[in-house]
Amino acid sequence: MKVDKNKLASVWGKEAQKPVFNAFSQDIETDVAIVGGGITGISTAYALNRAGFDVVVLEASEIGRGTTGYSTGNLYAPVDSRLAELEKKHGEELLKEVVASRVAAIDFIEQRVKEFGIACDFRRVPWHLFTTTEETNGREEILHEQRAALTAGLEVSSRVPAGFPLPVKDVITIPGQAQFDPLIYTRELAQNIHSSRCQIFENTKVLDVLDKNPCIVKTANGTVKAKQVIMATHTPKGIYLVHAAMEAKREFAMAVRLKGPLPNSAVYWHATRESQFSIRPYRSSAGDFLIVLGRSYAVGKENQMEKSYQSLEAYLRAHFEVASIEYVWAAQNYRGADHLPYIGKSIGNSNVYIATGFAADGLVYGTAAAMIISDLIQGNKNPWAKVYDPTRFTPAASAKTVLNENFNVGKELLKDYLFYDRSTELSTLKNGEAKVLTVDGEKVAAYRSDTGKLHLVSSVCPHMGCIVHWNDIETSWDCPCHGSRFSIEGEVLEGPAYKALSKPVNSTGNSQ
Ligand SMILES: Cc1cc2nc3c(=O)[nH]c(=O)nc-3n(C[C@H](O)[C@H](O)[C@H](O)COP(=O)(O)OP(=O)(O)OC[C@H]3O[C@@H](n4cnc5c(N)ncnc54)[C@H](O)[C@@H]3O)c2cc1C
Repeated sequence: MKVDKNKLASVWGKEAQKPVFNAFSQDIETDVAIVGGGITGISTAYALNRAGFDVVVLEASEIGRGTTGYSTGNLYAPVDSRLAELEKKHGEELLKEVVASRVAAIDFIEQRVKEFGIACDFRRVPWHLFTTTEETNGREEILHEQRAALTAGLEVSSRVPAGFPLPVKDVITIPGQAQFDPLIYTRELAQNIHSSRCQIFENTKVLDVLDKNPCIVKTANGTVKAKQVIMATHTPKGIYLVHAAMEAKREFAMAVRLKGPLPNSAVYWHATRESQFSIRPYRSSAGDFLIVLGRSYAVGKENQMEKSYQSLEAYLRAHFEVASIEYVWAAQNYRGADHLPYIGKSIGNSNVYIATGFAADGLVYGTAAAMIISDLIQGNKNPWAKVYDPTRFTPAASAKTVLNENFNVGKELLKDYLFYDRSTELSTLKNGEAKVLTVDGEKVAAYRSDTGKLHLVSSVCPHMGCIVHWNDIETSWDCPCHGSRFSIEGEVLEGPAYKALSKPVNSTGNSQ
């Protein structure tokens, strides 16, 4: 079971429109600059613009084609790491507030769909968490989640729904959750709010943000001066304390055609011993697909990618009659140390806001971030601002992840520097192979394409100095420390790094 690289693409996008916004071309002054045009950035632009602020959105590629366009488009009040776990870590009151904020965020999306008539197939569907008869345990987990959902004020049923696609052992259902096409929603929301007072630029990479009064946002084609800046870049660009408290995970998703009909529309979360698999039927003008994802792996862990892909495909084939795999894609998550996002002003920031740590629940959290940050900027009281405040200190709830994450960063740095490959034999690199090497005294990441072309970049991540690792499936260099990813030419693909991997000074690879 090898990934067919020709299938590497997200299922969304076929029906979304082409780029509609120009690139940034001259200096501007504005109230708020938003870096990043995913669901978080565009929803925040909507909320602030409606509140009377002048807004500028700067998107490095195209609106919605970051993680938002690689998600599964499920909108639900529960969370990936379980409501029961949140209650255990933070108590009943906080659990209720998290759920209330997520319910309000789903309503916000539904209201925007109605306000602008966005044809993103938004529909209310049930959410199911279940185990199947093949599992010997898992009942406790489901019961705990049922109790936590009831405590949080959600309606919960434990009856097995008619027409359930798998042989259920235990199930809980929460009605009134939702599904949509995340790419069409975000792009059409952007088109509807775009105006002289809400300017949106695509293909405009922000190169630096200076947290001043006003803030200076630098791009290759000029600067934006803004009273406030929002880092809506999934993980904030540059150096922020929250990076030390977040795990960066990657996950494969697949959209397949089934031999038989699709299951009923719903969000299906299958809790297996190995992992949680999320299943979503998707009916579109291009046909019917079953979207499945699960089994995440730490970014930059070479030996885990293939395994993660293989276990997803094995899961799919074991549980459904798959006719063909049509799309395969991977995308990234950042989980907060105490399993809550960081939304608001970060420690040490005056006029810069962050919105990150959404784990795999960020279509909803990103929308909640828009509601919270727009209130904070207006000076309004927001009921959930404190829950997600990035300056919160939750030592007991965060300790394990912070220790793990920093141990991991230290371990990666030490391991990579101690056991770095000191061979200078670039010529031994076969076609299709990649390696980190020391060449002419420089740490180099070398990849030789299938046609024999050598691509050399520095192997030192410009974010915090870790060594990048090869991602054979997506043909990229990935940093195991904080999740920055780079193309074979060194350009930043995602993650906190601003700068590209530099080109080696001494080694050109020409002699090879
Ligand atoms: C496989 C997978 C499935 C998921 N499914 C779901 C789901 O069903 N439901 C759910 O709620 N959540 C889901 N999530 C999580 C969710 O997709 C994300 O949390 C959410 O999309 C984050 O939105 P965002 O706008 O914050 O980030 P993004 O959508 O990543 O947007 C950030 C934008 O910033 C831009 N950017 C980055 N750097 C710069 C720069 N220097 N200058 C300018 N722009 C820049 C990027 O190009 C990007 O467009 C899933 C995640 C994964 C990985």
